[in-house]
Amino acid sequence: MSYLRTLFLHPPSYQGFDGGAGSRYQARREVRSFWYPTWLAQPAALVPGSRLVDAPPDGLTLDDVRPLARQYELAVLHTSTPSFAQDVRVAEALRAENPALRIGFVGAHVAVQRERALAASEAIDFVCHGEFDFTVREVAEGRPLGEVRGLSYRDGAGLRATPPRPPIENMDTLPFVVPVYARDLTVENYYIGYLLHPYVSLYTGRGCRSKCTFCLWPQTVGGQRYRTRSVDHVIEEIKVARRHFPQVKEYFFDDDTFTDDLPRAEEIARRLGRLGVTWSCNAKANVPAATLEVMKDNGLRLLLVGYESGNQSILNNIKKGIRLESARRFTQDAKDLGIKIHGTFILGLPGETRQTIDQTVRFACDLDPDTIQVSLAAPYPGTALYGQAVEQGWLVRDALVGADGTQQSPLGYPDLPHTEIFEAVPRFYRRFYFRPGKLLSLAGDMIRDWEVMKRRLREGREFLEFLSRRRAHA
Ligand code: SF4
Repeated sequence: MSYLRTLFLHPPSYQGFDGGAGSRYQARREVRSFWYPTWLAQPAALVPGSRLVDAPPDGLTLDDVRPLARQYELAVLHTSTPSFAQDVRVAEALRAENPALRIGFVGAHVAVQRERALAASEAIDFVCHGEFDFTVREVAEGRPLGEVRGLSYRDGAGLRATPPRPPIENMDTLPFVVPVYARDLTVENYYIGYLLHPYVSLYTGRGCRSKCTFCLWPQTVGGQRYRTRSVDHVIEEIKVARRHFPQVKEYFFDDDTFTDDLPRAEEIARRLGRLGVTWSCNAKANVPAATLEVMKDNGLRLLLVGYESGNQSILNNIKKGIRLESARRFTQDAKDLGIKIHGTFILGLPGETRQTIDQTVRFACDLDPDTIQVSLAAPYPGTALYGQAVEQGWLVRDALVGADGTQQSPLGYPDLPHTEIFEAVPRFYRRFYFRPGKLLSLAGDMIRDWEVMKRRLREGREFLEFLSRRRAHA
């Protein structure tokens, strides 16, 4: 089988933009952060001879990537709602450089806004619906677009859509991504504040059983079932990764909710324990203590937990499926076992008031995760939250990010204007981090480890810059 010479590109957009095909909420973060472009690495692994270019972590500009157009026959660009307009400009520049280049867009944004996306520019030849791995491979095989399921394309003056492609059921048919990382990426360029550096992240499954109304991927590309790779397949990839990356200090399983299938999570943990790997994962705040213990005993270091709010009515409004008491119990269990927690919170969800913001800040301080992230509610097209926001007139602006790529507050409520929600984020961070106990524990980590010291000093500077930018925008 011969393939078109194929470039997989996460295009340059905002400086420091963490919008790659592995980032759930695309924005420039408070401190330098980049997730791996796993969703692009997956089809890249299916197309022999392809290349994956992840522009933001490598600091590549449009001028750097434009000449690549001449070397390829097909370019697949990962896009997102915040970066779409910039990604279109990149596509147009590539097309100008090589008029014969076929260009496709993938990602949740184009999966739900197919016709609008195609209509945005003649430089976009096709957009993929939902899961795009095998769709892209078939395009790279040179098949006519009309014969490839799961895409919309430009046909003369009109736009056409092919029949849907069913979701992948046998997830072991997806090849490993780590050889693509090793071939095309520099692992040292990937940072996440709460993960050891360097780290590597990958998926052991796609989809999430929960129905949180704001959550992008399960409602667009991943689905609301947890489709998993076999345990053997996962362990084999970790073995391959360790051969490629002896310098990596931690593996992160970026499945939406790795703990959705507890017996499987325990089995993977036991097998990782035998390998002596340090690892972390996403989890919902409902994992029983017995499972936490198995995971901790087998190398688990940290859990990334979406608490979202400290107000039960808001959790009910967004269909989080969690009670505050169980979140408290889970957090205490994890702490008792010595598992670190990065807790994520969202301000501006339906039902938010000044009082609920205060409640969430107090809840976060009570739980006292090791680190936190505070985001603004982001109504992505394709989510139930977006539909609700349009219907209720809560959407005060379309853009999810500002001119510098940092998050904006697009939702406002009759009793809580969007500006107040926006201003509450830095206040939340200050109230959480500028407590004597928290400052002492961060200082203790730095004193114990020189590498941590250097990194935290850099992140501290970036974080203070973020706070002052917020003050200037407020
Ligand atoms: S549990 Fe997490 S990943 Fe699953 S739908 Fe809710 S927010 Fe999304």
